[in-house]
Amino acid sequence: MQDSSVIRVSGLFKSYDTPAGPFPVLKEVDLAIAPGEFVAIMGPSGSGKSTFMNILGCLDRPTAGEYALAGRAVSAMSKDELAGVRGGLIGFVFQGFNLLPRISLEENVALPLVYSHVPKEERLSRARAMLEKVGLGRYAASLPNRISGGQQQRVAIARALVNKPQLILADEPTGNLDSQTSEEIMALFEDLNREGITIVLVTHEPDIARHAKRLVRFRDGRIIHDGGHEGLEHHE
Ligand code: ADP
Ligand code: MG
Repeated sequence: MQDSSVIRVSGLFKSYDTPAGPFPVLKEVDLAIAPGEFVAIMGPSGSGKSTFMNILGCLDRPTAGEYALAGRAVSAMSKDELAGVRGGLIGFVFQGFNLLPRISLEENVALPLVYSHVPKEERLSRARAMLEKVGLGRYAASLPNRISGGQQQRVAIARALVNKPQLILADEPTGNLDSQTSEEIMALFEDLNREGITIVLVTHEPDIARHAKRLVRFRDGRIIHDGGHEGLEHHE
């Protein structure tokens, strides 16, 4: 049967090589995510959340186990195919907004298109359209230091969207933002999810996780909960 999952990992292990020997971080993780899902990943610091996200984003490879992205085994992809998948299928949003300080916001948003064969004028017009979408069209020509942290994260989301990804991977995207601004960013993710984009988002905060439809909890490199977010406390 055809696998319709966007993400399917099974028996995933990851160890880092350290001077003291292999250090196991992910231990037999199984997870399938269907198109259109909005999944929050929670868990204590050091439980392997970022390691897992990096593997989902094809930025790192598992030590063992299977990962299929949009039905295709990642381990069987060539370097070029991987780069294509990273560039075209997945949009990344990180805690630090990682905007380049000396170029305009529209140029920042257009950056992921530099490696596609899109001409410069079209790159910038697509970037401006994405800035409009996140409510920052009027700042297209400004430098990053002219806007607030919350606005910078909106720009980072616009940059993640410019390749029209099916999947957004966000690792603590509101970690540097106050709660009001965090709510605005989550409203934007909810809009994107309503448009059909699959979202996987790591957060420490129950109030943020509540925006997702499904909650996955990690502890010590294993999934210890996968389901709804009923019972999620305000302060854990
Ligand atoms: P989380 O995002 O849940 O805080 P991480 O995936 O960042 O957890 O880290 C899980 C564990 O792996 C931590 O103990 C961390 O110190 C360790 N770790 C992360 N990256 C590396 C690395 N490149 N080399 C060695 N250990 C690492
Ligand atoms: Mg992390």
